[in-house]
Amino acid sequence: MSRSAGETHPYSGEGDARNSGEVVSELVRAVEEKEVAARLAHGVDTWIFDLDDTLYPRASGLYEQMLARVIELIQTSIGLNAAQAEELHAEYYHRYGTSMTGLSRHHGIEPQRFLEFVHQVDLVAIGNGDRLRSRLAALPGRRIVFTNGSRRHTQRVLHHLELTELFSAICDIEACEFVGKPSRVAYDTLLRHHDIEPSRSMMFDDRAVNLQVASELGLKTVLVNPISWSGNESYVDAVTDDLALFLGAATHGGRCETEIRQPVNL
Ligand SMILES: [Mg+2]
Repeated sequence: MSRSAGETHPYSGEGDARNSGEVVSELVRAVEEKEVAARLAHGVDTWIFDLDDTLYPRASGLYEQMLARVIELIQTSIGLNAAQAEELHAEYYHRYGTSMTGLSRHHGIEPQRFLEFVHQVDLVAIGNGDRLRSRLAALPGRRIVFTNGSRRHTQRVLHHLELTELFSAICDIEACEFVGKPSRVAYDTLLRHHDIEPSRSMMFDDRAVNLQVASELGLKTVLVNPISWSGNESYVDAVTDDLALFLGAATHGGRCETEIRQPVNL
C-alpha cells in the first residue's frame, strides 16, 4: 500500500491522460487496498480517531484558520512580528507536537488561554459528516476521539459534523494534562483512562509522527489525508486519503465494492 503524496487517488476516476495499463494497475491497487483495510480491521473493537484534518477534509482550511490565530496570539503575547511568530510556532510545533506546550513552558502562556483563543474558528468550511456517519456507525465496538485539541473544540466539531452520538469518549489535551501526541505520556493516558487493549485497537491520524508510539504500543495504525508521506515509515500500517472509503472497506469483509462508476475502456 505504498503511495506517494500527490498521486491520483485510485478511486477518484481522475486522470484522463492515463493509458489503459495505468487504469488497470490503479484498479488492481484499489482492490488490494480494500483487502488490506479488511485484513487490518480483523478483530478490532476499539477505533481511535484524531479530530482535526482526520474526521474532516484538510482542504476545509480549518488548520490555516487555527494557525492564523496561533500567530496572532504569539505576536500579541510575546511582542514578535508575524515572521518571528511563525518561526517560533514552527519550532515548538516540531519540538513538542503542539506549539501550545512550548508557549506554556517558555513564555508562560496558559494552555487554557491558548486553546480558547485558537479554537475560535468558523466551522462552516468543514462541511458535514454525511459520508462518514454510516461507515463509522458500522464499525464493530466503540469509537474514541484522541486529539491535541480541547474538549470544547472537539465537542463543537463533532456536533457540527453530526457525529457526536457515534463516539463513546473523547481523550483531549486537557484529559492528558496538556501533554499531547506524540508524547508517550498522552498514549499512556489514553490506554489507561479508557481501558484499551492495543492489539484490538486501530488509530487514525493525519500526522505520521503521531502514529509511531501507537504502533510501538501495539495498535494498528492508519495515516489519513497525509500532506507528505515517504512510504517508508514502518509504523504506518495503511494510508488513505479517503477515510470513509477505508472504513467502508474495513467493514465489508474485503468485498470489492468499487466506487469507480464509469466503465473502463480497455
Ligand atoms: Mg490532526
